[in-house]
Amino acid sequence: MKNKKPPMRRCIGCMQSKPKEELIRLAWYEETLSLDPTGKAKGRGVYICKSQDCLQKAVKKGAFARSLHENPGSDQIQRVAGQLEAELIRQQEGDDHAE
Ligand SMILES: [Zn+2]
Repeated sequence: MKNKKPPMRRCIGCMQSKPKEELIRLAWYEETLSLDPTGKAKGRGVYICKSQDCLQKAVKKGAFARSLHENPGSDQIQRVAGQLEAELIRQQEGDDHAE
């Protein structure tokens, strides 16, 4: 019997717990917030769904300040939104032949 549960993480935007693979990590390191698709970057991490909606929700709620005890500026959020967009496109292209 397999009873191995996938590791769960909670999205700081919509607050839902999901398997780790469905979320993406954001790392805060040396005053910089960046997307961490590998989940292995240095620094404090938070997770969000792979969705701009959840990123925006997290911003509106002040979830970064609460989870990281740091407050990334809107320029940093914008940069991360761009990185997320690029990552979503990259993943879609990578999945093309899987469907
Ligand atoms: Zn979410």
